[in-house]
Amino acid sequence: MEDQEEKEGLPIPDIFLNSDTKAPLSHCIQCDHDLMQGDRFYMIEKVFKRYLQLDSTQVLFEYAVCSECYERMRGALSKESMTNLSAYMMTNTDFQAMQLRMQEHPEDPEKWLSHCMIKGMPKEDLTEFQMGACFKGDKLVTSFMPPFMIGNVAMEEMNELLSKETKDEMDGFMDDNFGIPPELRKDLVLI
Ligand SMILES: [Zn+2]
Repeated sequence: MEDQEEKEGLPIPDIFLNSDTKAPLSHCIQCDHDLMQGDRFYMIEKVFKRYLQLDSTQVLFEYAVCSECYERMRGALSKESMTNLSAYMMTNTDFQAMQLRMQEHPEDPEKWLSHCMIKGMPKEDLTEFQMGACFKGDKLVTSFMPPFMIGNVAMEEMNELLSKETKDEMDGFMDDNFGIPPELRKDLVLI
């Protein structure tokens, strides 16, 4: 069942592996689908906190979600919020810089994630950042959206674009899956 795209895809970058076990995040957090079967696309999102003084980085949470659950989750969010979010990303993302990083390091996706794709700030200067990418089986998929990194400043701006219902919906997701209270949920914007 190997098609051209899967043969050519890059392996899962280390940064997107389970941060404790270093194994792939193999199951959908919502429906427990076995993602290693390779029959569904899936997204991995991770949120990191950086302690600048200590020069150390901690993973706040990480998850994989299959395309079906992802669509369902997005479908539950308000249209207005999603439209605002897309418009913000389309107008603010520095696509040129992103393209350049990809061209410079075609085989090393972690280097594509060195700067906030919106504000252009280097990872070292951020106190918090969120990363995401799309996968199929054990391969990175870049055709829909390349892996991205968004820093705390842009995350805050994006969070302000969300309607009350959308924030509540995201809060519910975080609470159900990670037991994360709403006041910390602002650390993640579902993209
Ligand atoms: Zn699922």
